[in-house]
Amino acid sequence: MSGEKPKVVFVLGGPGAGKGTQCSKIVERFHFVHLSAGDLLREERAREGSEFGQLIEEYIRNGKIVPVEVTCSLLENAMKLSGKMRFLIDGFPRNQDNLDGWQRQMADKTDMQFVLFFDCAEDVCVVRCLGRGQGGSGRSDDNMESLKKRIQTYNNDSLPIIKHFENAGQVKRIDATPDADTVFQAVERVFLDAGFQ
Ligand code: UDP
Ligand code: MG
Repeated sequence: MSGEKPKVVFVLGGPGAGKGTQCSKIVERFHFVHLSAGDLLREERAREGSEFGQLIEEYIRNGKIVPVEVTCSLLENAMKLSGKMRFLIDGFPRNQDNLDGWQRQMADKTDMQFVLFFDCAEDVCVVRCLGRGQGGSGRSDDNMESLKKRIQTYNNDSLPIIKHFENAGQVKRIDATPDADTVFQAVERVFLDAGFQ
């Protein structure tokens, strides 16, 4: 076994900032594996016989953050299963509990490259999430009531984590307000500058 550790990029930003959309484009262009913590939790919720299904649904509907032991294990399993070496971890870590759990369980096993931060005005995010809900996202949290709680959680719990990474000089900030193709031009530059191709 070589000593090389899997490379990880954390992708953060408010609900509706466009993390998922941009991750798909990064996957296509730079051959990363996209792991959305929210998608992994929704899959686990839907899995027959999951002991965490109900807990996950409650947290998601209320815009709260699932205890890190659950999320981090789902991430680690997905990384192992893929057998790949480049990962976008989308929507995680989003509070101090998430960050502490990652440091305990995964930090030594991975090589964190940078944090890709999609910075988007709150009103734009709201329009995008509600549009996604009306378009039939099937998500139990793309409604105004859940969205208000998600935004509150983001402002209270997630922004301080982004601030923490920023103080460590690890954040690449992207203006996520324009259309997806314009945003991706900035994203592409970040990955090229970081030596990916
Ligand atoms: N979630 C969580 N831990 C995570 C990621 C997501 O508990 O690490 C839950 C949380 O309740 C969040 C929801 O899943 O509000 C949806 O997250 P997702 O990232 O899919 O939403 P987005 O921010 O992309 O709209
Ligand atoms: Mg998402």
